[in-house]
Amino acid sequence: MSAPATWTISEVQAALDSRKISARELINEFYARIEQANPKFNIYLALSPERAFAQADKIDAAIAAGDALPPLAGVPLAVKDVISTRGIPTTCGSRILEGYKPPYDATAVTRLENAGAIVLGKTNCDEFAMGSSNENSAYGPVRNPVAPDHVPGGSSGGSAAAVAAGLAVVSLGTDTGGSIRQPGSFCGVPAMNPSYGRVSRYGLIAYASSLDRIGPFARTVRDAASVMSVIAGRDPRDATSSGAAVPDYLSGLDRSLHGLRMGIPDDYFGEGIDPEVREKIEAGIRLLEKLGCKRVSIRMPNTDYAIAAYYILATAEASSNLARFDGVRYGPRVPGATLMEMYKKTRGRGFGPEVKRRIVLGTYVLSAGYYDAYYLKGQKIRALIARDFREAFEKADVIITPTSPVPPFRLGERTANPLQMYLADSYTVTGSMAGVPGISIPSGKTSKGLPIGLQVYGPAFGEDRVLHVAHAFERAGGSDL
Ligand code: GLN
Repeated sequence: MSAPATWTISEVQAALDSRKISARELINEFYARIEQANPKFNIYLALSPERAFAQADKIDAAIAAGDALPPLAGVPLAVKDVISTRGIPTTCGSRILEGYKPPYDATAVTRLENAGAIVLGKTNCDEFAMGSSNENSAYGPVRNPVAPDHVPGGSSGGSAAAVAAGLAVVSLGTDTGGSIRQPGSFCGVPAMNPSYGRVSRYGLIAYASSLDRIGPFARTVRDAASVMSVIAGRDPRDATSSGAAVPDYLSGLDRSLHGLRMGIPDDYFGEGIDPEVREKIEAGIRLLEKLGCKRVSIRMPNTDYAIAAYYILATAEASSNLARFDGVRYGPRVPGATLMEMYKKTRGRGFGPEVKRRIVLGTYVLSAGYYDAYYLKGQKIRALIARDFREAFEKADVIITPTSPVPPFRLGERTANPLQMYLADSYTVTGSMAGVPGISIPSGKTSKGLPIGLQVYGPAFGEDRVLHVAHAFERAGGSDL
């Protein structure tokens, strides 16, 4: 029997079904591994053993009674710390929410638990999901399980690393400009950013509400599809969640790719891309051709403006969303002689430097006199980028790009220059602005053994197509290119 740390969802279920292991034993095993590995990797910020064992006992009772099991029965799950979990500390990687325990669960968490998944705990991330390396967490960076002196990517670095290190079978992350896909690429695991509105944001502590999404990390594309099947769909508690029907993401996975048109944007292979990344993505594209995809050249002419526009829109929304953290309702308060002084001291101490930078930037671009010059222009660029995607999807069924222009970098290597850090998001923010789904899947490694990710974009609500291509790529050995 292989080690539970390497199991996929179906292997967990086979082991439970055949009574090789009980759900309680499985959770014990994961906690033992976490206890051993977490001091080194700093992946989990909080564990929830009481809730996990209660859920495990429920699954074990159902197995003993011979009941039909729900689709994710007994599957160990890690949840990014910006997603609310009732009674379990949810800090967003920030001091300002230290000790905060939400009074309710996010819809995605409720749905996964109802499907039998077991929440092991909360994962480390960049503070309020702002970052690309996990180095902006107030609780210290996560180390990349593949290369521990390297970053795991961000902001959902803990969730990516939890799956990569075998400390969870699946996990939830959030993506605003790349925060699921880029850490998935850096840690060598499949990572899916669904369409905007596909998964309820209820209970997700907002960074930039018009861009934020929740999505899965998993050991295989099939597992990511299983999680998507559970979390996707309309939620009356999130007015932006879509009522569009949710297809069965699993049933179409094994179809042939024959005749599928894949768009390759020349604009994504220009300046700034690492030569080893380019080489492996080109090898990935050739593999997809062998599988029957037809290559079509497409143009995404507004790509160059994406980063600048994203950092205007995202910071503007952040400055407004983060106004609620003032020491009155959530988290620790630093007393002051007046109300204003209390606000200042609480926010001054509670927020880290990157979050402060973004609040200042966002407040500036929204201020009277500058609104038209910055925010409005950012919105126009967003519309142009969405149009690039719409036009591309007239010629192509999917779009293939690198996930990140660079492989994982060393801890500390990029912290001195925020602009350089922002450029790591070049290929992911475009899809965020357009609202379309994208998945990152492993596509070989650098000569030093660092993971490289290939991104598959699909049209809005085309998750099934994206998963289908990613699954075929994975099955054909894409990760070993
Ligand atoms: N790195 C980007 C940012 O810092 C994306 C983060 C995210 O997707 N949450 O905004």
